[in-house]
This record gives sequence, structure tokens and C-alpha cells, in this order.
Amino acid sequence: MSFNTLGLSPSILKAIEEKGYTTPSPIQEKAIPVILDRKDILASAQTGTGKTAGFTLPILQILSQNPPAGRRKIRALVLTPTRELAAQILENVREYSTYLDIRSTVIFGGVNQNPQVATLKNGIDILIATPGRLLDLHQQRLLNIGSVEILVLDEADRMLDMGFAKDINRIMAILPERRQNLLFSATFSLEIKKMAAGILFDPELVEA
Ligand code: AMP
Repeated sequence: MSFNTLGLSPSILKAIEEKGYTTPSPIQEKAIPVILDRKDILASAQTGTGKTAGFTLPILQILSQNPPAGRRKIRALVLTPTRELAAQILENVREYSTYLDIRSTVIFGGVNQNPQVATLKNGIDILIATPGRLLDLHQQRLLNIGSVEILVLDEADRMLDMGFAKDINRIMAILPERRQNLLFSATFSLEIKKMAAGILFDPELVEA
């Protein structure tokens, strides 16, 4: 199996090649075609399996294939439990989008919000966020997520463990109803299954 047969553009393949990846990991091989098919997925994947590229590469493909007509709006939102994970995902997204006209940034709590707000004002396609800071900026009317087409819930089990269930519900209520949802979790407790049932539409199960 090679990356060339997955339906990714030459610009994305070039970035992958520069990262030194030669073969897609099992989660990438399974998830990428399903995401490109615009289906919701419920994926079981631990950290270290390559799940970040598993959702980032098809998102970049979808967004770059259909550029926005007018001003740049947030079209993909990645929710993740910690600032460390958020920063790591941003780094990956930036590397994979080196040869694309895609802008990405990150917002998380515990730091001054002003630089984050200034970056958002410049226009962003992909936002990586921890739930609390996202809601905080939204409540201050400094963030518009009304154009999100793809939502990723990364490490969903850890988000629930950290007490983000209510925040996630609030975020769901302000997102457009018509969107593609990608949920990644290392474990599948009853709580995760309930959350998945409330958020995902007819998901494909993907296991690494
Ligand atoms: P993740 O599970 O997304 O945190 O990725 C774990 C590590 O695997 C990261 O350092 C990635 O850069 C690396 N990685 C992801 N996909 C591949 C691949 N197809 N081949 C080699 N390394 C990869």
C-alpha cells in the first residue's frame, strides 16, 4: 500500500514525502478513503498510530479541493483535550499543508487570549481548540464557528475524563447541523458510545 492510491493531491503527497513517510499506517489506510467519501467515522485509535495524519490529510484534501468563494472562514474544527495535544496537531497540520493555501491556528486556555484573537481575525481555515477556550471566545463574540464543515473530536475519551462533556454539548449546539463528524477515541465506554450516538450520523467504524 502506498499513499499514492488514497486520492490525495500532489501537493499533499509532496509534504508527506518530505516528512519521510512511505506507507500509510493501518488507521490512515482505513480512515482516509472513508473521510474523503464524506462519511462520519467512529475510530478507535491510540496515540502513536498515526491518527493525526489520518484525519488531517483527508481534511486538507477536501478543503483544498473546494476553496471558499469569499472570505476565509473556519471550515474544519479539531477539538482536543489539552494544549500540548492541540499544539502538536497544529504542527502536523502546518507541515502537511506546506504546499496548500490553507491557514490553521490553535486556541487553548491558560494564556492571554489576545494573540489568539488577532490570528483568528486574519482568517483561518482550520482551527484546533480545547473546548473551554473555544466557548470562552465564542461567548465574547470573538469567534465564529458557523461555517464549520468538518468536526474532529480527538481523544474523545480523555475529553470526557477531563470533564468536557458539558462544553462539548454546548459546542455542538452552536455548530452547523450539516457537517461531517470524525470521532477518535482510545477506549469505548458507555459514555463515549452515548456521546457518539448523539453526534455522529450513520458512522463507519474504523479500527487501527
Ligand atoms: P500520531 O498517532 O498521529 O500522534 O502519530 C505518531 C507519529 O507517527 C508521529 O510522529 C507522526 O509523525 C508519525 N507518522 C504518522 N503517520 C506516519 C506514516 N504513515 N509513516 C511514518 N510515520 C508516521
